[in-house]
Amino acid sequence: MPKPKLRIGLIGSGFMGKTHAFGYSIAARVFDLPFELELHAVADISDEVAAKAASALGFARSTSDWRSLVADPAIDVVNITTPNALHKEMALAAVAAGKHVYCEKPLAPLATDAREMAEAAEAAGVKTQVGFNYLCNPMLGLARDMIAAGELGEIRGYRGVHAEDYMADTNGPFTFRHEPVGGGALADIGSHALATAEFLLAPTAGPIIRVMGDCVTMIKERPDGKDGRRRVEVDDVGRAFLRFANGTSGSIEANWIATGRKMQHDFEVYGSRGALAFSQERFSELHFFSTDDRGGRQGFRRIEAGPEHPPYGLFCVAPGHQLGFNDLKAIEVANYLYAIAGRRSEPFNFRAGLRIQTLVETIHASSRAGAWKDVP
Ligand code: NAD
Repeated sequence: MPKPKLRIGLIGSGFMGKTHAFGYSIAARVFDLPFELELHAVADISDEVAAKAASALGFARSTSDWRSLVADPAIDVVNITTPNALHKEMALAAVAAGKHVYCEKPLAPLATDAREMAEAAEAAGVKTQVGFNYLCNPMLGLARDMIAAGELGEIRGYRGVHAEDYMADTNGPFTFRHEPVGGGALADIGSHALATAEFLLAPTAGPIIRVMGDCVTMIKERPDGKDGRRRVEVDDVGRAFLRFANGTSGSIEANWIATGRKMQHDFEVYGSRGALAFSQERFSELHFFSTDDRGGRQGFRRIEAGPEHPPYGLFCVAPGHQLGFNDLKAIEVANYLYAIAGRRSEPFNFRAGLRIQTLVETIHASSRAGAWKDVP
């Protein structure tokens, strides 16, 4: 039986636009997808940029008018990989046109926007996905399973960090990531740290219910791209103490001026019988400490990703050969397509994206107030 066709439209062909296109291409070759995929059209800011992207990424058509892409009756799924401030308008238009929508994180600059988007999608009955690709790492799935199965005993603490140095240069220009509403390190990469914290601990410790934030701007102005400098108000470093529903204490740090760090999306989980340590810098490994090991032989053991950690085996039959960043996107794509086909629930839909935005805003509010805040 031929598979039904699913036609993809992509808005934005920068860093993430490419990753989405790679994700579809890889997923179609690795997974037994429920659809035959067609990269139908790509939109970007000019005809030239869009045409170049279509040719490079394998889309059949291109346009400088994202509205015409959204209105195209042939398109089933709209992928939004544009700057944060554009997500809401584009997603609402796509939902209104009856499309499934796959939007990059953070879902929107404000939680109120994210709520409107989630509610619109739910009312329209379309399937949504937010790009939290790090959660698709088989090693994170393994960590979550080990925690839930009690292999670490009672969970007593959590530490997460997402640190990079892409904003460490004082003369780096003002970008959409510095926009006063919705910008900042906490929204940009702290969103990943928060998503990971709840992905791992919520099944056992419950959701994060209270936060104490400390968000600071260290580089207070940047070149504005003309000849002047523009004031920066958003956080370069956002830290928060977290309290999970069962009382477990945790913390996260988001830092985009962490000189020398390129992709430190790391966590440690401490339990009464064991601990886990993970670094995105070596993301095909999970380190496990067990108090069951006898004295004198204890230490973190390194578990390498392999076919025993699904869906690794679909990519490679041999353990230890490692997945890459674009492979995580391919796993996210596949999970989303199974959800569109009704074979599973949406892995990280707009409502889940709203949850992360709510956490980000509560941490900001706590930082401004200098006091603990309950998460609404
Ligand atoms: P980028 O600047 O590399 O790409 C943005 C693209 O959008 C560009 O091609 C730009 O020309 C296009 N664009 C801008 N305005 C447009 C318009 N009106 N119509 C059509 N196209 C338009 O940015 P990026 O780093 O790819 O970030 C895009 C989104 O992806 C952001 O929301 C960001 O937070 C998210 N992101 C997610 C991850 C992840 O790991 N999930 C990583 C990086 C970025």
